[in-house]
Amino acid sequence: MTAVPASVPASLPRRLTILGATGSIGRSTEAVILGAPGVFETVAVAGGRDAQNLARVARALGAEFAAIAEPSAYAELKDALAGTNIAVGAGPEALKEAAAMESDLVIGAIAGAAGVAPTYAAVEAGRDVALANKECLVCAGDSFMRKAREKGVRVLPMDSEHNAIFQALGGESARTIEKMWLTASGGPFRTWSAEQIAAATPDQALAHPNWAMGPKVTIDSASLMNKGLELIEALHIFGVEARKLDVLVHPQSIVHGLVSFEDGAVTAGMAVPDMKVPIAHCLGWPDRVPTRARRLDLAEIGALTFEKPDFARFPALRVAMQALAAGGAMPTILNAANEIMVAAFLDKHISFNDIAKNVEAICELFEKEGAARTPANIEAALAVDHNVRERSRARLAALGH
Ligand code: MG
Repeated sequence: MTAVPASVPASLPRRLTILGATGSIGRSTEAVILGAPGVFETVAVAGGRDAQNLARVARALGAEFAAIAEPSAYAELKDALAGTNIAVGAGPEALKEAAAMESDLVIGAIAGAAGVAPTYAAVEAGRDVALANKECLVCAGDSFMRKAREKGVRVLPMDSEHNAIFQALGGESARTIEKMWLTASGGPFRTWSAEQIAAATPDQALAHPNWAMGPKVTIDSASLMNKGLELIEALHIFGVEARKLDVLVHPQSIVHGLVSFEDGAVTAGMAVPDMKVPIAHCLGWPDRVPTRARRLDLAEIGALTFEKPDFARFPALRVAMQALAAGGAMPTILNAANEIMVAAFLDKHISFNDIAKNVEAICELFEKEGAARTPANIEAALAVDHNVRERSRARLAALGH
């Protein structure tokens, strides 16, 4: 092992497990770990179905265990890791096993609802979690945070906006907070007319101006649904009331989150838009670890601008804020319906505007049926999620898609 750099405290190396090692956050996490030699040790890596890529990460980080969600990928992963000491597992139970292994921090970076059960398994095993997966909080926030409190588990926000707010808070209590703003770049359609947005193609929606992310979250950034989901996350992670949460459109993506306090002071979290910055903050917290992220040059950028979100052109944010205010199962319903509709848009079955339109219709449907009560536990939340997906697919089928 390489010697620990002099600036790194003696509490390191820190032992990490990465759930979602082959995705976009996983790759940035790998870059942070490899960029700070001797600071981290990798216990386990887990991925979805890309056995070759998972094997590559497991080797690069010297993991003890590699788990792949897709059971049929077991043999390929085993072959790809032949001749190493890395143990191999496949299927949902293997992911939970990886999550529960002895470690200092579990990175919850599996995208979508598939990330909930393994990340929850980490919390149940008493592991501190750095959360990049939105669904743990959006789909099952009440149960997830209740379990974290019960187990004394620390949940560190890895999403750039929440991480910026976490840093801007500087450990102050939620009681003194007057307001929290999450910023949104506004996505590729910020300056487009309603007519142009209505005709937007998946390729246009995938062309994000500032951030390189996975396809689902990139579409959510174009519709601003992503910011709505992030407000729901913020509610759970910081324990603030919905009415204190707001969105600012900030096209330069330099200020990621702001907090104002009861004395009128405002603090903000800033950095270049590079996920390595919030990832490194979570990995090293409460210490700091060096990254090779580009440094912020405010004089070069010159001006930072802010504007109110336009709910008329971006109705997804309005629908999400309604779900945030309604609480109960509404965020769970919103999120599941959105995931199905985004997939349908990417498959060119529905238009860009149809995403928000259909999500709102599904939310109203469940509300009318009185099915929006708070799920009692994580299983109940996942059952609601499953049910909403079925109903969303049925709605698409009925519309002829
Ligand atoms: Mg974000």
